[in-house]
Amino acid sequence: MSPTSATTFADLGLTPTILRALDDAGYVKPTPIQAQSIPFLLEGRDLLGLAQTGTGKTASFALPLLHRLAETPRPAPKNGARILVLAPTRELVSQIADGFESFSRHQPVRVTTIFGGVSQVHQVKALEEGMDIIVAAPGRLLDLIEQGLCDLSQLETLVLDEADQMLDMGFAKPIERIVATLPADRHTVLFSATMPKSITALVESLLRDPAKVEIAPPSTTVDRIAQSVMFLDASNKKAALLSQLQTPGIGQAVVFTLQKNIANEVCTFLTESGITAEALHGNRSQGQRERALNAFRDGDVQVLVATDIAARGIDVDTVTHVINHDLPSLPESYVHRIGRTGRAGRSGFAITLCDAEQRAWLHAVEREIGRTLDVHDSHEWHCEKARNSTMRPPVLGGGPVKQVKPQKVRERRVWTEEEKMAARAAAAKTS
Ligand code: AMP
Repeated sequence: MSPTSATTFADLGLTPTILRALDDAGYVKPTPIQAQSIPFLLEGRDLLGLAQTGTGKTASFALPLLHRLAETPRPAPKNGARILVLAPTRELVSQIADGFESFSRHQPVRVTTIFGGVSQVHQVKALEEGMDIIVAAPGRLLDLIEQGLCDLSQLETLVLDEADQMLDMGFAKPIERIVATLPADRHTVLFSATMPKSITALVESLLRDPAKVEIAPPSTTVDRIAQSVMFLDASNKKAALLSQLQTPGIGQAVVFTLQKNIANEVCTFLTESGITAEALHGNRSQGQRERALNAFRDGDVQVLVATDIAARGIDVDTVTHVINHDLPSLPESYVHRIGRTGRAGRSGFAITLCDAEQRAWLHAVEREIGRTLDVHDSHEWHCEKARNSTMRPPVLGGGPVKQVKPQKVRERRVWTEEEKMAARAAAAKTS
C-alpha cells in the first residue's frame, strides 16, 4: 500500500477508539480511496466507489461506519443488524468481518458472518442475539430471511462490495429480494472494480444522489505488476508452469485454472514435482478451503491453485506471482486475478500461459486492459502457431473443455450480449 494523500486518519475526524485500533494495525496514513471516501460516509452520503482490490477499500467503508455506530449508540436489533455488508464469496465475507473486528477492537461492536456451505445453527444463534454488523454472502442470507430467521427492517446501512462479481455470479435476483426487505431511507454504499451497464443500472436503482470516488479507471490493471504471456502448446503448460515456479527468487504464487478438475490436476502435478500446493475451488468443503487458505497465508504452502470465483478473497501480501495456467473466459476476471499480487505497495509478476485455443480470450483481455502483454518467447516451448491462432475459444459446459474444430475467423470477433451472458453463466457454474 502506498498512500499518497497528505491527510492523516486523525484529520479525518475518526473517534479515538478507531484511531487506537489503526495504530495497533500499523496503518499510518489513509490510502487515496480511504482519504476520499471516509468524509462522504461520515456525513451519511450514499457512495459509489470504483476501486480494485488492494487499494484499501475495506477500511474505506468499515472505518466511517464504525465511527457512526460509536456516535449513535443503540441496542443491536434482534434477528437483524444496523449494518449489512454483502460480498460475493465466503472468503471475502470472512476477510471483511476480520477487518471490522480488528478496527473495532476498542469499541463494543457485534459482528457476525453469514454464508452457505456450513450449518446455519451458529448464524441463527448470532442473529437471535442481535448484531451491529452482518457481513453476508447473498444466497444464505436470503435463505435465512425467507425462513423468517432474519429481519432487516431496522437496517441503517447497506454496503455492496465487489458488486460486479456478485452480478457475474448470478446474485442479481437474491440482492433484489434482500433489498426489498430493507428500509427505503437507508444509507447505501456500493463498491465495484468495473462498471458494466448492469452495475450502472444497480447504482441507479439503489443509490440516492451518490458521491463518486474512483481510484483507478475501471478495468485497468495495476501499474506495478509486470505482465507477460508465453505462447505454447497446451500439452506443455504444466512443464512451463513448473519451470516458472522453480525460478530462483520466486515467492508465493497463485495459479489460476479454468475449471475445478484442472485445478486438482495441476495441484497433484505440482505436489508430485516437489512443490507444496493446495487447491481452492467450489467443490472443496468450507473446512478444506479455510485450511488451504490458512496454510497459504502462513507460508506453509508455496502455491495456491484456484478457480476464479474461489480466489476472490485471497488477500496475502507476500504473493509475488500470479500464473494463469488458463486464460479466463471473462476478460474482466483477468484484472481480478492479477490483483492477487502487487499488494501492499509491492511489485508483482503476472504470467499468462496461452495456447492456440485460448488465443481469442487473450485478445479479449488485451482489449479490456487497453494494452498488449509483453511476449516472453525465449523459452523452449514457444509456439508461433498459438500466437497467431484464429481458433474459436473453447465452449464451456459442466464437463471438461470441449475441443472445437479450428475455424478461420475473417474479421475481428465481437461478443454479443447473449454470448457474454452465456459465458458468465458458464463461468459461474464451472469456477
Ligand atoms: P483491501 O483493498 O481492503 O483488500 O486492502 C488491501 C491491503 O492493504 C490489506 O492487506 C490491508 O490490510 C492493507 N491496508 C489497507 N489500508 C491500509 C493503510 N491505510 N495502511 C496500510 N495498509 C493498509
